[in-house]
Amino acid sequence: MKSYKTIPFPCSSSVFKWVLLFFLLPVQAYCDLILVENKIPKSEIVIGASPTRSAQFAALELQYGIKLITGAEIPIVAAPKNSDTVQIMVGIPSDGETFKHEEYSIRFREKKIYLAGNDTPDFKKVNYTKTDTFPPLQYYYRASCFAVYDFLEKACGIRYYSYGDTGTVFTPRKTLSVSNLDCRRAPAMKAFRVPYFEGPQSHIPPRDLLLLRHRWRENIVCGLVNHNIYSIYYRYWGKATDKQLASVFIEHRPEYFAQRSEDRRSSRIAQRYYAGQYVPSQLCYAVDGPVDYFADEANKVYQGKKVPGVRFPDLKKLPDTPFYYPIQPDDDTSVCQCSQCKEKMEKDRSAYLFSWINKVAAKAHKLNPDINFATLAYDITSTRPADIELYPELSVQICMDIALWFHPLIYKRQHGIYKDWVRHEGKKRMLSCWLYMLDPGSAIRQIPGQTRFFSCHLPQTYRKNHHRIP
Ligand SMILES: [Zn+2]
Repeated sequence: MKSYKTIPFPCSSSVFKWVLLFFLLPVQAYCDLILVENKIPKSEIVIGASPTRSAQFAALELQYGIKLITGAEIPIVAAPKNSDTVQIMVGIPSDGETFKHEEYSIRFREKKIYLAGNDTPDFKKVNYTKTDTFPPLQYYYRASCFAVYDFLEKACGIRYYSYGDTGTVFTPRKTLSVSNLDCRRAPAMKAFRVPYFEGPQSHIPPRDLLLLRHRWRENIVCGLVNHNIYSIYYRYWGKATDKQLASVFIEHRPEYFAQRSEDRRSSRIAQRYYAGQYVPSQLCYAVDGPVDYFADEANKVYQGKKVPGVRFPDLKKLPDTPFYYPIQPDDDTSVCQCSQCKEKMEKDRSAYLFSWINKVAAKAHKLNPDINFATLAYDITSTRPADIELYPELSVQICMDIALWFHPLIYKRQHGIYKDWVRHEGKKRMLSCWLYMLDPGSAIRQIPGQTRFFSCHLPQTYRKNHHRIP
Protein backbone atom coordinates (compact mmCIF):
# COMPACT_ATOMS: atom_id res chain seq x y z
CA MET A 1 0.00 0.00 0.00
CA LYS A 2 1.36 3.37 -0.96
CA SER A 3 1.74 5.50 2.11
CA TYR A 4 3.13 8.70 0.59
CA LYS A 5 1.37 11.48 -1.20
CA THR A 6 3.33 13.04 -4.03
CA ILE A 7 3.29 16.80 -4.22
CA PRO A 8 2.34 18.13 -7.67
CA PHE A 9 4.41 21.13 -8.71
CA PRO A 10 2.22 24.05 -9.66
CA CYS A 11 4.66 25.34 -12.26
CA SER A 12 6.47 23.70 -15.15
CA SER A 13 9.61 25.79 -14.72
CA SER A 14 12.39 23.45 -13.60
CA VAL A 15 14.17 26.31 -11.81
CA PHE A 16 11.05 26.93 -9.78
CA LYS A 17 10.74 23.22 -9.00
CA TRP A 18 14.24 23.08 -7.56
CA VAL A 19 13.78 26.25 -5.55
CA LEU A 20 10.55 24.88 -4.12
CA LEU A 21 12.15 21.51 -3.40
CA PHE A 22 14.98 23.26 -1.56
CA PHE A 23 12.48 24.77 0.87
CA LEU A 24 10.48 21.58 1.28
CA LEU A 25 13.35 19.19 1.95
CA PRO A 26 14.25 20.23 5.51
CA VAL A 27 10.71 19.69 6.79
CA GLN A 28 9.74 16.76 4.55
CA ALA A 29 6.10 17.70 4.86
CA TYR A 30 2.89 16.25 3.47
CA CYS A 31 3.57 12.54 4.11
CA ASP A 32 0.81 10.49 5.67
CA LEU A 33 2.03 7.27 7.24
CA ILE A 34 -0.29 4.34 7.79
CA LEU A 35 0.22 2.69 11.18
CA VAL A 36 -2.76 0.28 11.04
CA GLU A 37 -4.80 -0.67 8.01
CA ASN A 38 -8.12 -2.45 8.32
CA LYS A 39 -7.14 -3.65 11.81
CA ILE A 40 -3.83 -5.07 10.58
CA PRO A 41 -0.61 -3.54 11.98
CA LYS A 42 1.41 -1.75 9.31
CA SER A 43 4.04 -0.46 11.69
CA GLU A 44 6.33 -1.55 14.51
CA ILE A 45 7.60 0.18 17.64
CA VAL A 46 11.40 0.05 17.83
CA ILE A 47 13.06 0.70 21.21
CA GLY A 48 16.68 -0.44 20.67
CA ALA A 49 18.72 -2.99 22.61
CA SER A 50 19.03 -0.96 25.84
CA PRO A 51 15.93 1.22 26.18
CA THR A 52 15.56 3.52 29.16
CA ARG A 53 12.78 2.79 31.62
CA SER A 54 10.95 5.82 30.20
CA ALA A 55 11.28 4.57 26.61
CA GLN A 56 9.96 1.11 27.56
CA PHE A 57 6.99 2.65 29.36
CA ALA A 58 6.36 5.12 26.52
CA ALA A 59 6.38 2.25 23.98
CA LEU A 60 3.80 0.34 26.04
CA GLU A 61 1.59 3.44 26.32
CA LEU A 62 1.87 3.97 22.55
CA GLN A 63 1.02 0.34 21.83
CA TYR A 64 -1.96 0.51 24.19
CA GLY A 65 -3.24 3.83 22.80
CA ILE A 66 -3.15 2.59 19.20
CA LYS A 67 -4.88 -0.63 20.25
CA LEU A 68 -7.66 1.36 21.88
CA ILE A 69 -8.25 3.27 18.64
CA THR A 70 -7.93 0.42 16.12
CA GLY A 71 -8.06 -2.89 17.99
CA ALA A 72 -4.67 -3.80 16.47
CA GLU A 73 -1.58 -4.48 18.55
CA ILE A 74 1.58 -3.07 17.01
CA PRO A 75 4.65 -5.17 17.94
CA ILE A 76 7.38 -3.70 20.15
CA VAL A 77 10.82 -4.79 18.92
CA ALA A 78 14.44 -4.07 19.82
CA ALA A 79 15.51 -3.64 16.18
CA PRO A 80 13.52 -3.10 12.96
CA LYS A 81 12.16 -6.40 11.63
CA ASN A 82 10.08 -5.45 8.63
CA SER A 83 11.43 -2.74 6.37
CA ASP A 84 8.12 -2.50 4.50
CA THR A 85 6.31 -1.14 7.54
CA VAL A 86 6.48 2.21 9.29
CA GLN A 87 9.00 2.19 12.13
CA ILE A 88 8.16 4.23 15.21
CA MET A 89 11.46 4.76 17.02
CA VAL A 90 10.71 5.37 20.70
CA GLY A 91 13.51 6.80 22.87
CA ILE A 92 15.82 6.83 19.83
CA PRO A 93 16.60 10.37 18.58
CA SER A 94 16.73 11.28 14.94
CA ASP A 95 20.07 12.34 13.43
CA GLY A 96 21.92 12.27 16.77
CA GLU A 97 19.66 14.96 18.23
CA THR A 98 20.47 15.71 21.88
CA PHE A 99 18.26 17.02 24.69
CA LYS A 100 18.47 18.71 28.10
CA HIS A 101 15.97 19.09 30.94
CA GLU A 102 12.56 17.90 29.71
CA GLU A 103 13.14 18.56 26.01
CA TYR A 104 11.82 16.13 23.43
CA SER A 105 11.11 15.99 19.72
CA ILE A 106 8.87 14.32 17.17
CA ARG A 107 10.50 13.80 13.78
CA PHE A 108 9.08 12.27 10.62
CA ARG A 109 11.85 10.94 8.37
CA GLU A 110 10.57 9.07 5.30
CA LYS A 111 9.01 5.89 6.74
CA LYS A 112 10.37 6.42 10.24
CA ILE A 113 8.83 8.38 13.11
CA TYR A 114 11.20 9.36 15.94
CA LEU A 115 9.70 10.02 19.39
CA ALA A 116 12.50 10.81 21.85
CA GLY A 117 13.57 13.12 24.64
CA ASN A 118 15.83 13.50 27.64
CA ASP A 119 15.44 10.45 29.89
CA THR A 120 17.10 9.70 33.20
CA PRO A 121 19.63 6.92 32.42
CA ASP A 122 17.68 4.22 34.22
CA PHE A 123 17.35 0.90 32.40
CA LYS A 124 15.26 -1.19 34.81
CA LYS A 125 12.73 -3.45 33.15
CA VAL A 126 9.14 -2.16 32.93
CA ASN A 127 6.16 -4.47 33.33
CA TYR A 128 3.00 -2.71 32.13
CA THR A 129 0.83 -4.48 34.71
CA LYS A 130 3.08 -3.65 37.69
CA THR A 131 3.00 0.00 38.74
CA ASP A 132 6.15 -0.28 40.84
CA THR A 133 8.15 -0.82 37.65
CA PHE A 134 6.87 2.39 36.00
CA PRO A 135 9.32 5.32 35.79
CA PRO A 136 9.07 7.67 38.80
CA LEU A 137 6.77 10.67 38.52
CA GLN A 138 8.97 13.18 40.31
CA TYR A 139 12.63 14.31 40.26
CA TYR A 140 13.14 12.25 37.12
CA TYR A 141 13.46 13.02 33.42
CA ARG A 142 11.14 11.00 31.19
CA ALA A 143 10.73 13.21 28.13
CA SER A 144 10.48 10.26 25.71
CA CYS A 145 7.09 9.61 27.33
CA PHE A 146 6.10 13.23 26.66
CA ALA A 147 7.00 12.79 22.95
CA VAL A 148 4.75 9.72 22.81
CA TYR A 149 1.84 11.44 24.60
CA ASP A 150 2.10 14.44 22.25
CA PHE A 151 2.11 12.05 19.30
CA LEU A 152 -0.94 10.14 20.61
CA GLU A 153 -2.83 13.38 21.24
CA LYS A 154 -1.86 15.48 18.23
CA ALA A 155 -1.33 12.84 15.53
CA CYS A 156 -3.74 10.09 16.66
CA GLY A 157 -6.44 12.24 18.30
CA ILE A 158 -6.47 10.71 21.81
CA ARG A 159 -7.48 12.89 24.77
CA TYR A 160 -6.80 11.88 28.38
CA TYR A 161 -9.59 13.62 30.27
CA SER A 162 -9.87 11.29 33.26
CA TYR A 163 -9.11 7.87 34.74
CA GLY A 164 -8.89 4.63 32.79
CA ASP A 165 -10.38 3.78 29.41
CA THR A 166 -13.65 5.53 30.24
CA GLY A 167 -11.77 8.79 30.74
CA THR A 168 -9.85 8.39 27.47
CA VAL A 169 -11.53 9.86 24.40
CA PHE A 170 -10.76 8.93 20.77
CA THR A 171 -12.44 8.11 17.46
CA PRO A 172 -12.44 4.33 16.90
CA ARG A 173 -11.33 3.38 13.40
CA LYS A 174 -9.98 0.38 11.52
CA THR A 175 -7.29 2.35 9.74
CA LEU A 176 -4.99 4.81 11.45
CA SER A 177 -2.77 7.10 9.42
CA VAL A 178 -0.77 10.03 10.75
CA SER A 179 0.39 13.27 9.18
CA ASN A 180 3.76 14.90 9.58
CA LEU A 181 4.19 16.37 13.03
CA ASP A 182 7.68 17.76 13.30
CA CYS A 183 8.43 19.57 16.53
CA ARG A 184 10.93 20.06 19.32
CA ARG A 185 9.72 21.40 22.65
CA ALA A 186 9.66 21.15 26.44
CA PRO A 187 6.84 21.73 28.94
CA ALA A 188 6.33 25.45 29.46
CA MET A 189 5.92 24.95 33.22
CA LYS A 190 9.54 24.17 33.95
CA ALA A 191 9.72 23.80 37.73
CA PHE A 192 6.81 21.50 38.57
CA ARG A 193 3.40 20.34 37.37
CA VAL A 194 1.51 18.59 40.13
CA PRO A 195 -2.25 18.14 40.23
CA TYR A 196 -3.25 17.89 43.88
CA PHE A 197 -5.83 15.12 44.17
CA GLU A 198 -7.76 15.68 47.38
CA GLY A 199 -10.56 13.62 48.84
CA PRO A 200 -11.31 9.89 48.69
CA GLN A 201 -9.80 8.08 45.71
CA SER A 202 -10.78 4.60 46.84
CA HIS A 203 -13.14 4.05 43.90
CA ILE A 204 -10.32 4.56 41.41
CA PRO A 205 -7.95 1.66 40.68
CA PRO A 206 -4.44 2.81 41.75
CA ARG A 207 -2.98 1.88 38.35
CA ASP A 208 -5.53 4.08 36.56
CA LEU A 209 -4.70 6.98 38.88
CA LEU A 210 -0.97 6.55 38.28
CA LEU A 211 -1.43 6.31 34.50
CA LEU A 212 -3.46 9.52 34.50
CA ARG A 213 -0.70 11.34 36.38
CA HIS A 214 1.80 10.13 33.76
CA ARG A 215 -0.51 11.12 30.89
CA TRP A 216 -0.94 14.60 32.38
CA ARG A 217 2.90 14.91 32.38
CA GLU A 218 3.20 15.41 36.12
CA ASN A 219 6.70 16.12 37.41
CA ILE A 220 8.59 17.99 40.07
CA VAL A 221 11.86 19.15 38.58
CA CYS A 222 12.65 21.65 41.33
CA GLY A 223 11.23 24.21 43.73
CA LEU A 224 7.95 22.74 45.03
CA VAL A 225 7.11 23.95 48.55
CA ASN A 226 4.70 22.90 51.27
CA HIS A 227 4.57 23.15 55.07
CA ASN A 228 7.55 21.19 56.35
CA ILE A 229 9.08 22.43 59.60
CA TYR A 230 8.06 19.33 61.56
CA SER A 231 11.30 17.36 61.76
CA ILE A 232 12.77 19.75 64.34
CA TYR A 233 10.02 18.80 66.82
CA TYR A 234 11.06 15.14 66.92
CA ARG A 235 14.58 16.20 67.93
CA TYR A 236 14.01 19.25 70.12
CA TRP A 237 10.42 19.34 71.36
CA GLY A 238 9.80 15.87 72.78
CA LYS A 239 9.77 12.17 72.09
CA ALA A 240 7.22 11.36 69.41
CA THR A 241 4.90 8.40 69.89
CA ASP A 242 6.28 6.85 66.71
CA LYS A 243 9.21 4.55 67.56
CA GLN A 244 11.55 5.64 64.80
CA LEU A 245 10.87 9.33 65.38
CA ALA A 246 11.27 8.86 69.15
CA SER A 247 14.73 7.46 68.50
CA VAL A 248 15.99 10.77 67.01
CA PHE A 249 15.02 12.86 70.07
CA ILE A 250 18.03 14.81 71.42
CA GLU A 251 16.78 17.17 74.15
CA HIS A 252 13.90 19.53 74.94
CA ARG A 253 14.73 23.04 73.75
CA PRO A 254 11.55 25.07 74.27
CA GLU A 255 13.33 28.27 73.20
CA TYR A 256 13.25 27.00 69.57
CA PHE A 257 9.44 27.09 69.54
CA ALA A 258 6.82 29.84 69.57
CA GLN A 259 5.92 31.33 72.94
CA ARG A 260 2.25 32.13 73.21
CA SER A 261 0.02 32.93 76.13
CA GLU A 262 -3.23 33.06 74.17
CA ASP A 263 -4.80 31.49 71.08
CA ARG A 264 -2.37 28.59 71.43
CA ARG A 265 -2.87 26.45 68.36
CA SER A 266 -1.19 23.10 68.29
CA SER A 267 0.98 21.92 65.43
CA ARG A 268 -0.71 19.70 62.88
CA ILE A 269 1.61 16.89 63.96
CA ALA A 270 0.49 17.12 67.62
CA GLN A 271 -2.49 14.80 67.33
CA ARG A 272 -0.49 12.13 65.55
CA TYR A 273 2.77 12.16 67.49
CA TYR A 274 2.14 14.06 70.74
CA ALA A 275 -1.38 13.02 71.75
CA GLY A 276 -2.85 15.14 74.54
CA GLN A 277 0.01 17.67 74.54
CA TYR A 278 0.10 21.30 73.48
CA VAL A 279 2.72 21.59 70.75
CA PRO A 280 3.37 25.13 69.42
CA SER A 281 2.58 25.28 65.73
CA GLN A 282 5.27 27.85 64.95
CA LEU A 283 8.93 28.37 65.75
CA CYS A 284 10.64 31.32 67.40
CA TYR A 285 12.30 33.23 64.58
CA ALA A 286 14.63 35.17 66.88
CA VAL A 287 16.97 32.34 67.90
CA ASP A 288 19.70 30.76 65.82
CA GLY A 289 19.06 27.08 66.63
CA PRO A 290 16.33 26.45 64.03
CA VAL A 291 18.34 28.37 61.40
CA ASP A 292 21.30 26.03 61.87
CA TYR A 293 19.03 23.01 62.09
CA PHE A 294 17.24 23.53 58.75
CA ALA A 295 20.42 24.49 56.90
CA ASP A 296 21.96 21.22 58.09
CA GLU A 297 18.82 19.24 57.19
CA ALA A 298 18.86 20.65 53.64
CA ASN A 299 22.51 19.68 53.27
CA LYS A 300 21.87 16.13 54.46
CA VAL A 301 18.92 15.63 52.09
CA TYR A 302 20.98 17.09 49.24
CA GLN A 303 23.64 14.49 49.95
CA GLY A 304 21.04 11.72 49.82
CA LYS A 305 21.24 10.94 53.54
CA LYS A 306 18.24 9.50 55.37
CA VAL A 307 16.80 12.10 57.76
CA PRO A 308 13.87 10.61 59.73
CA GLY A 309 10.87 12.92 59.94
CA VAL A 310 11.57 15.21 56.97
CA ARG A 311 8.48 15.80 54.89
CA PHE A 312 10.23 15.59 51.50
CA PRO A 313 12.91 12.91 51.86
CA ASP A 314 13.14 12.13 48.14
CA LEU A 315 14.21 15.55 46.89
CA LYS A 316 16.94 15.25 44.31
CA LYS A 317 19.12 17.52 42.27
CA LEU A 318 18.51 16.77 38.60
CA PRO A 319 21.28 17.32 36.04
CA ASP A 320 21.38 20.89 34.63
CA THR A 321 18.78 22.03 37.17
CA PRO A 322 19.31 23.98 40.42
CA PHE A 323 18.47 22.30 43.74
CA TYR A 324 15.89 24.01 45.95
CA TYR A 325 15.07 22.87 49.46
CA PRO A 326 11.60 23.87 50.75
CA ILE A 327 11.16 25.80 53.97
CA GLN A 328 7.67 26.71 55.11
CA PRO A 329 6.21 27.07 58.62
CA ASP A 330 3.01 25.37 59.72
CA ASP A 331 -0.31 26.40 58.20
CA ASP A 332 -1.56 28.98 60.73
CA THR A 333 -0.73 32.36 62.20
CA SER A 334 0.04 31.39 65.83
CA VAL A 335 3.37 33.16 65.60
CA CYS A 336 5.80 33.61 68.46
CA GLN A 337 4.99 36.35 71.00
CA CYS A 338 8.40 36.63 72.63
CA SER A 339 9.51 40.26 72.93
CA GLN A 340 11.85 40.14 69.91
CA CYS A 341 9.39 38.39 67.62
CA LYS A 342 6.47 40.53 68.77
CA GLU A 343 8.18 43.81 68.03
CA LYS A 344 9.28 42.78 64.55
CA MET A 345 6.02 41.01 63.71
CA GLU A 346 4.04 44.12 64.59
CA LYS A 347 6.19 46.17 62.22
CA ASP A 348 5.99 43.89 59.16
CA ARG A 349 5.06 40.22 59.54
CA SER A 350 5.98 39.31 55.99
CA ALA A 351 9.40 40.96 56.27
CA TYR A 352 10.09 39.26 59.60
CA LEU A 353 9.38 35.77 58.27
CA PHE A 354 11.29 36.38 55.05
CA SER A 355 14.24 37.68 57.11
CA TRP A 356 14.32 34.35 58.95
CA ILE A 357 14.16 32.42 55.68
CA ASN A 358 16.97 34.62 54.33
CA LYS A 359 19.09 33.53 57.31
CA VAL A 360 18.39 29.82 56.71
CA ALA A 361 19.19 30.20 53.00
CA ALA A 362 22.45 32.05 53.70
CA LYS A 363 23.55 29.48 56.27
CA ALA A 364 22.82 26.54 53.94
CA HIS A 365 24.58 28.24 51.04
CA LYS A 366 27.67 28.52 53.24
CA LEU A 367 27.55 24.79 53.95
CA ASN A 368 27.05 23.91 50.31
CA PRO A 369 26.81 26.44 47.45
CA ASP A 370 24.59 24.05 45.47
CA ILE A 371 21.75 24.40 47.98
CA ASN A 372 19.09 27.00 47.31
CA PHE A 373 15.88 27.46 49.26
CA ALA A 374 12.27 27.88 48.18
CA THR A 375 9.38 29.22 50.25
CA LEU A 376 5.79 30.39 49.90
CA ALA A 377 4.19 33.76 49.42
CA TYR A 378 1.23 32.64 51.48
CA ASP A 379 -1.01 33.92 54.25
CA ILE A 380 1.04 36.42 56.29
CA THR A 381 3.85 36.29 53.74
CA SER A 382 1.61 36.78 50.70
CA THR A 383 2.73 40.34 50.13
CA ARG A 384 6.26 41.02 48.94
CA PRO A 385 8.36 42.46 51.77
CA ALA A 386 9.23 45.82 50.28
CA ASP A 387 11.85 46.87 52.83
CA ILE A 388 14.21 43.91 52.76
CA GLU A 389 16.28 42.31 50.03
CA LEU A 390 15.50 38.64 49.59
CA TYR A 391 18.40 36.20 49.54
CA PRO A 392 19.58 35.98 45.90
CA GLU A 393 19.01 32.24 45.40
CA LEU A 394 15.65 32.12 47.17
CA SER A 395 12.71 30.93 45.06
CA VAL A 396 9.16 32.02 45.94
CA GLN A 397 5.98 30.05 45.24
CA ILE A 398 3.01 32.42 45.08
CA CYS A 399 -0.29 30.94 46.31
CA MET A 400 -3.47 32.22 44.68
CA ASP A 401 -7.14 31.27 45.02
CA ILE A 402 -7.94 31.73 41.36
CA ALA A 403 -11.21 29.83 41.90
CA LEU A 404 -12.38 33.05 43.57
CA TRP A 405 -11.16 35.52 41.00
CA PHE A 406 -14.73 35.99 39.80
CA HIS A 407 -15.05 38.25 42.85
CA PRO A 408 -13.68 41.70 41.92
CA LEU A 409 -12.16 42.50 45.32
CA ILE A 410 -10.39 39.17 45.66
CA TYR A 411 -9.15 39.42 42.10
CA LYS A 412 -7.90 42.94 42.67
CA ARG A 413 -6.01 42.01 45.84
CA GLN A 414 -4.50 38.70 44.71
CA HIS A 415 -3.71 39.73 41.17
CA GLY A 416 -2.16 42.93 42.53
CA ILE A 417 0.05 40.93 44.91
CA TYR A 418 1.06 38.59 42.08
CA LYS A 419 1.93 41.44 39.71
CA ASP A 420 3.94 43.15 42.42
CA TRP A 421 6.02 39.97 42.94
CA VAL A 422 6.57 39.56 39.21
CA ARG A 423 7.44 43.22 38.65
CA HIS A 424 10.01 43.44 41.44
CA GLU A 425 11.37 39.90 41.72
CA GLY A 426 10.56 38.14 38.44
CA LYS A 427 13.97 38.78 36.93
CA LYS A 428 15.92 38.18 40.12
CA ARG A 429 14.77 34.70 41.10
CA MET A 430 12.54 31.77 40.18
CA LEU A 431 8.89 32.50 40.94
CA SER A 432 6.34 29.71 40.77
CA CYS A 433 2.62 29.36 41.51
CA TRP A 434 0.37 27.16 43.62
CA LEU A 435 -3.18 27.62 42.35
CA TYR A 436 -6.38 26.65 44.14
CA MET A 437 -8.45 25.99 41.03
CA LEU A 438 -11.37 23.87 42.13
CA ASP A 439 -11.13 24.54 45.86
CA PRO A 440 -12.41 27.89 47.14
CA GLY A 441 -10.36 27.41 50.33
CA SER A 442 -10.16 29.81 53.22
CA ALA A 443 -10.25 32.96 51.09
CA ILE A 444 -13.96 32.29 50.66
CA ARG A 445 -14.35 33.83 54.10
CA GLN A 446 -13.50 37.21 52.61
CA ILE A 447 -16.66 37.30 50.50
CA PRO A 448 -19.58 38.96 52.26
CA GLY A 449 -22.61 36.70 52.13
CA GLN A 450 -20.61 33.79 50.77
CA THR A 451 -22.80 31.34 52.70
CA ARG A 452 -25.52 31.92 50.14
CA PHE A 453 -23.19 31.00 47.27
CA PHE A 454 -21.40 28.03 48.74
CA SER A 455 -23.57 26.65 51.53
CA CYS A 456 -23.96 23.25 49.85
CA HIS A 457 -20.32 22.69 49.04
CA LEU A 458 -18.16 23.96 51.84
CA PRO A 459 -17.27 22.37 55.14
CA GLN A 460 -19.01 23.83 58.17
CA THR A 461 -15.88 25.63 59.32
CA TYR A 462 -15.74 27.75 56.19
CA ARG A 463 -19.38 28.64 56.39
CA LYS A 464 -19.08 29.80 59.99
CA ASN A 465 -16.04 31.99 59.64
CA HIS A 466 -16.95 34.51 56.99
CA HIS A 467 -16.15 38.16 57.44
CA ARG A 468 -15.96 41.25 55.30
CA ILE A 469 -12.89 42.50 53.53
CA PRO A 470 -11.69 45.45 55.66
ZN1 LIG B 1 10.25 34.47 69.37
